[in-house]
Amino acid sequence: MSLRGFLTRFRINKFPFRFVYSDAYWMVELEDHVFPAEKYRLIYERLLHKGAKKENFESPEPASDEDLLLVHSPKYLNRLKTGRLSQSEVIALELPYSAELLDFAQLMVGGTIKAVGLALEDGLSVHIGGGFHHAFHDHGEGFCILNDVAIAMRKMQQCGAFQKGMIVDCDVHQGNGTAEIFAGDETVFTFSMHQMDIYPAKKEKSTLDVGFWSDDGDRKYLDSLKSHIPRMYETFKPDVVFYLAGADPYERDQLGGLTVTLAGLKERDGIVIQGALQLKIPVVILFAGGYAFDVMDTVEIHLNTIKMSQKLKRKYL
Ligand SMILES: [Zn+2]
Repeated sequence: MSLRGFLTRFRINKFPFRFVYSDAYWMVELEDHVFPAEKYRLIYERLLHKGAKKENFESPEPASDEDLLLVHSPKYLNRLKTGRLSQSEVIALELPYSAELLDFAQLMVGGTIKAVGLALEDGLSVHIGGGFHHAFHDHGEGFCILNDVAIAMRKMQQCGAFQKGMIVDCDVHQGNGTAEIFAGDETVFTFSMHQMDIYPAKKEKSTLDVGFWSDDGDRKYLDSLKSHIPRMYETFKPDVVFYLAGADPYERDQLGGLTVTLAGLKERDGIVIQGALQLKIPVVILFAGGYAFDVMDTVEIHLNTIKMSQKLKRKYL
C-alpha cells in the first residue's frame, strides 16, 4: 500500500464522526480494581494518533439529578449523594464507593445522553464510555451505580427525540439492571446476549435473552446473533439502537469465558451495526465491559468496533 493509501485508510476525520469523551473518565481512583478505567484514555490517544482531531471529541456535562430520577428512586439517589450506602450495597457494587465515583458515574450518564443526541443527528456516534447496565432503579451492582443506558433512553424519549428504542447488549454479562428497569415497557426492547454461568447469578427477564455457556465460542455466538439480527430490527422497528459493544466475550478475558476471538468480535460488530444502518436506524455505541488479561487487547477490541462503525457509516449513510 502506498503511503498515501495508508494515511487515507487510517484517517479518522475524512467525514464527520463524533465521539463523546472526557479525561475525567480515567482519572477516577479505583484502587487497582479489575475495571480498567485507563482504557478510555488509551483509546482516545490511539484515535488521535490515527488522525482524529480534538474537534472530533465532544465533552459531556454531568447529568442532572432530575435526569437520574427518571430511572433511579429518590431514596437510592439520596443514599448515593450522602454516602450512606449500606455495607451490603457496597459489597454488591464491587467498587470502592466515594463521592468521586458518583461524579464519574454522573458524567458518564451525561456522556451517554450526549452520544444519543449525536447519533440522532449523524446516524451513528460512539461514546468512549458508558454501558453501566447492572445498575437497578433502587441499587447498584457489578461496578455500576447509575444506569446511563436507561437514563439516556428515558430522557431522550421524554424530550420527544424518539419513541421506540432498542438495546442490543452484547456484553458478556446479562444486562440485568436495564432489563428490570424496562420490564413491561413496550417502547423499549431489551436484547441481551450473555454467558449463563457467570455474574449475575440471578438473571432478570429482558424482552429477549440469549444465553451461552463457557467455551461456546465464535460459531455458536455469531450464528445465534445472525438468527436475531436484522429480523429483530425489522419487527420492532426501533427509532434508535443502543449497542453495548462489550469487549468481555473475548477469549482472553479475566471475567468471561465465552472464548470469542478478536475476529469473532469484529464480525459481531458488523452484524449489529450493519443491520441497523442499512435500515437507516441510528446507532449509538457504548463500550460497557472488557477485562482482558492485557488491557491493550480490550483497547484493540473497542478500536475495532470504532473502525467497523466508520466503515459501515461510510457505506450506508
Ligand atoms: Zn461485562
